[in-house]
Amino acid sequence: MLRNDQLEKWDRENFFHPSTHLAEFARGNLPHRVVTGGSGCHIEDRDGNRLLDAFAGLYCVNVGYGRPEIAEAIAEQAKELAYYHAYVGHGTEASITLAQMVLDRAPDNMSKVYFGLSGSDANETNVKLIWYYNNILGRPEKKKIISRWRGYHGSGLMTGSLTGLDLFHKKFDLPLAQVIHTEAPYYFRRADQTQSEAQFVAHCVAELEALIEREGADTIAAFIGEPVLGTGGIVPPPAGYWPAIQDVLDKHDILLVADEVVTGFGRLGSMFGSDHYGMKPDLITIAKGLTSAYAPLSGSIVSDKMWKVLEQGTDENGPIGHGWTYSAHPIGAAAGVANLRLIDELNLVQNASEVGTYLNDTMQAALGDHPNVGEVRGEGMLCAVEFVADKGSRTFFDASQTIGAQIAGKLLEQDSVIARAMPQGDILGFAPPFCLTRDEADQVVGATLRAVTAVLD
Ligand code: PMP
Repeated sequence: MLRNDQLEKWDRENFFHPSTHLAEFARGNLPHRVVTGGSGCHIEDRDGNRLLDAFAGLYCVNVGYGRPEIAEAIAEQAKELAYYHAYVGHGTEASITLAQMVLDRAPDNMSKVYFGLSGSDANETNVKLIWYYNNILGRPEKKKIISRWRGYHGSGLMTGSLTGLDLFHKKFDLPLAQVIHTEAPYYFRRADQTQSEAQFVAHCVAELEALIEREGADTIAAFIGEPVLGTGGIVPPPAGYWPAIQDVLDKHDILLVADEVVTGFGRLGSMFGSDHYGMKPDLITIAKGLTSAYAPLSGSIVSDKMWKVLEQGTDENGPIGHGWTYSAHPIGAAAGVANLRLIDELNLVQNASEVGTYLNDTMQAALGDHPNVGEVRGEGMLCAVEFVADKGSRTFFDASQTIGAQIAGKLLEQDSVIARAMPQGDILGFAPPFCLTRDEADQVVGATLRAVTAVLD
């Protein structure tokens, strides 16, 4: 076995880590951690630490770590048939079964599932399908995609453009011209202090209407949004937001993509966020929770309405010119089937609802009155604590103080609890595996209070 110091040297010299300050990591100023194992809500590292992972990796290990049922399904599939492609009508029992299972759980009026590898490539597929759709309908000008500031939809060229966070645009020559952004439904930060939630929803709708008016509805193909803003701050929408947005989209014949990479398969305490909030999407993006990240797999769920036009397109033009070598990879599909079965067998969506509500309530009770906590918010097994310099005037800390990152650091150092300092704002995010117990929720809340006290009091 390699010595720890050798591994660290190689890591710092050779490994290009995603979403990392490259120079600081290479200089040794950022921690390096070699993760070796996991079970339930905990991971272990090579230095012998056992950490409570209150972010489920990147909100993806929804069933928790170390599930033998999924590991065995993967091993069986790999032994039987590790790979065959899905082009021109090929498939495996796992991929066909998984498509059926996904559609059984999906909102009404959904017709087919295209399988990819990551949330980013699934959204890339969605944009291509939207463009194809409008070309087949003879509307070549109707191509722009509206996304929200603070939305997160991936980090490819198109999907990084859809993502509404500066960090993903700056120095990358993004966003691409076909992408336009509108107001985020972020009541706490974006509403002025005199606005009610209903007035703020009306403001979001007015902003969207004005954008459509400015650009011309005949140039706008689709609107993409996460049911709950995730990476942009874990922000559930104000009441009535989605039905009001849906009305505007319907009026202008603009498609809706529900990006359910985080919310799909139970994180909000219901199977899909679209049903939870009354969205009527034409496409749904799924990834993370589809396999609980036991293998890379994503998907685009396509509505009846779009499918009919896609079929017409292939009648006119031949096979659809879109496919990945690894589309519907058998190992990912086997992991997906085992994962969705496990979620049902263990009643994990209900647990996400019950323990998620408990986590949010106890977090609110413990931290809601702290002078530097502006808001505790969440839905199901998603929770966020947003910090402010002054509560009365809702003044934020200067970004250079890195308050959110410091609190996340303390949480880890003092109590071995992993939360995520969300980008752009002092926001501590929690998205534990659905198997979190009430005891573990208490540990997370207690540790958060201690970390907040250590940094701010
Ligand atoms: N959409 C959403 C809502 C996401 O949260 C993410 C990833 N955090 C993505 C898309 C991109 O997924 P991936 O990182 O698998 O490409």
